[in-house]
Amino acid sequence: MTGTGHRLSTFSIVLGTTSSPFAAILSLFGSTFPDSSEYIIFGKRRNRYHRRWTHWFIPWAFLAYICFQRSGWIVPKISTLIDGKNAHFDVWSCVGFWFTGCVLHILEDAWCGTVPFLRPWKRDIGFHVFHMSKKFGEMSRGEKNFVWCCILIGIIAFLVRTYTIEDFVRIITEFMKSI
Ligand SMILES: [Zn+2]
Repeated sequence: MTGTGHRLSTFSIVLGTTSSPFAAILSLFGSTFPDSSEYIIFGKRRNRYHRRWTHWFIPWAFLAYICFQRSGWIVPKISTLIDGKNAHFDVWSCVGFWFTGCVLHILEDAWCGTVPFLRPWKRDIGFHVFHMSKKFGEMSRGEKNFVWCCILIGIIAFLVRTYTIEDFVRIITEFMKSI
């Protein structure tokens, strides 16, 4: 999957599940790290090791679990971070969401290709829901459809979880009055 595809789908998935735009942005920052870490570690030899050790979900998921456990399973708040009191819980949670981005990256790669399951040196699990474009960095039609589905579901889940039906009715009636 392309970097843009990873960023957009990860942001939408986390926004829909937490209803926190801040947590979604933190995950977005982590969402391309499994690929960029390959450039850092392997440099030009990257292709030989692509989607192997860096795309093994177990270490990323373990690190995310540790961070969330330390945070007391909270969603971070910018106001608490600025305030500084008990902010360490929120700091752990921020890092947890960054690692969540890495975990989701691997899941998203498994939709269009193969990633390791239990053996990090072997790419043996993949769903092939859509194909990637042959051109590097270009989003294929299947990838675009996948990303749009994530965005739509994420936004709907965010709206449903953040607002009540009364809020929607009020917004619509105010809008009708204004035109
Ligand atoms: Zn990848």
